[in-house]
Amino acid sequence: IPVDLFDLVVFGGTGDLARRKILPALFKRFCSGQMADGARLIGASRRDWSDADYREFVRKSLSEFAGELALDRSLVETFCRCVHYVSVDANGPRGWDELSGLMVADRVRAFYFSVDPGLFSGLSMRLQDHELMNEQSRVVVEKPFGHDLETAQALNAELAQHFDESQIYRIDHYLGKETVQNLMAVRFGNMLFEPLWNAQYIDHIQITVAETVGVDGRGEYYESAGAMRDMVQNHLMQLLCLIAMEPPTFFDPDAVRDEKLKVIRALSNVEPHHIVRGQYTAADGATSYREDVDNPRSRTESFIALKCHLNNWRWAGTPFYLRTGKRMSERDSEITVVFKETPHAIFGQEAGRHNNELTIQLQPDEGITLGVTIKDPGPGGMRLVDVPLDMSFAEALGPSADSPDAYERLIMDVIRGDQTLFMRNDEVEAAWAWTDPIIRGWQARGDAPKPYDSYSAGPDDATMMIRRDGREWRGVI
Ligand code: NAD
Repeated sequence: IPVDLFDLVVFGGTGDLARRKILPALFKRFCSGQMADGARLIGASRRDWSDADYREFVRKSLSEFAGELALDRSLVETFCRCVHYVSVDANGPRGWDELSGLMVADRVRAFYFSVDPGLFSGLSMRLQDHELMNEQSRVVVEKPFGHDLETAQALNAELAQHFDESQIYRIDHYLGKETVQNLMAVRFGNMLFEPLWNAQYIDHIQITVAETVGVDGRGEYYESAGAMRDMVQNHLMQLLCLIAMEPPTFFDPDAVRDEKLKVIRALSNVEPHHIVRGQYTAADGATSYREDVDNPRSRTESFIALKCHLNNWRWAGTPFYLRTGKRMSERDSEITVVFKETPHAIFGQEAGRHNNELTIQLQPDEGITLGVTIKDPGPGGMRLVDVPLDMSFAEALGPSADSPDAYERLIMDVIRGDQTLFMRNDEVEAAWAWTDPIIRGWQARGDAPKPYDSYSAGPDDATMMIRRDGREWRGVI
């Protein structure tokens, strides 16, 4: 079903994010018929380009990042006819009258700030000065949303001067993943799980987001951020919220975000011995983190594992283990909910004891698996084994279940005006309010990250941290 007629203006339309994610996502939605006739994509950047130059940039981006659909030249050319370009300066007058002249009344306007956050203020001011915002206008902002609580508050205050909160869409692309939304469907659409979804039946929950890549040309940014700011404060926190939140009354943006906010506010401070920071070293022909960021004395973490608790009725006593890192042995993002053992082993100790586990896999493939215990087949007596009950979406739902990219979903939500999967100002600030003292803590203690080999499981201390509790990390790492 096509969404309402729209103009999507991408500030930073010639940048890396636009090229790799935004343009291919919009093209795929166009191919699936969601872009109504007349809807437009307007690239807006500093480069002095014409429409024709930008269309060439779009063609290249699609051929590289839009998969097989981009082989259909007539589709690509029809899409390119919806593409325009304006050369604008976020910090000066150039291009704004032209952009203003290009706008058409009576359609949704979405302004995507795919630029450095330092430019948000200039863009917001000029959008307002040129009266480009109307009732149907939205702005989309990318991470990083602040560097700490103070900068996030300043950014929120800046945006609030120009836009209503209902017009601001803070993207966390993890929330656009099909499986993440399915996590809510599984929890709140089935009777099976919710009665067990608490400290009484759940032993602990793990969230792992492991990447094999290093800092890859983003060294300068990463060096000032580290894994805690780059991944935990936003992506892992959002996953934690969805897994731990109370059922909202409705599937409504503010009802969902109110519940997520309560989770963040219930997070306890993290004890220093429940934090392991790591930094990758050269191995297997790969460079070290310090070489990648060109700082031989860097103390920034490219890996972090931590154990935290939620101070609320549902989760009292249940540990949440989070870990994320770069240059790990596998690319693997998953959430594992480990249930408690049965209270009594009726088959005797020799049959084995097992925990049920619900695994929500986000990368490389998406799917949900429930591990259940059954009898080991054969005449060997009553021995127990775990088998997976799989919900691989591609298999369960057929070819149409091809998961759309997170950006496809999120951009269409912006046009539809649905903020459910976007972070609200108070959520972002609460997440920083939890993150800041943890970072200040290790800075005050002068803790250095532990070295770990590139393409490994991270520092041994992370394994030891969870083993001390009699538990093991799940997943392939
Ligand atoms: P980039 O450096 O590749 O592109 C920046 C864009 O901003 C270019 O199009 C440039 O022309 C434009 N620009 C710079 N100064 C300008 C000015 N004064 N006026 C108008 N336009 C100007 O950056 P990117 O990698 O595309 O990232 C954009 C934003 O998205 C950043 O905030 C980044 O942190 C965030 N982000 C990027 C990625 C990614 O994968 N690249 C992922 C998550 C978040």
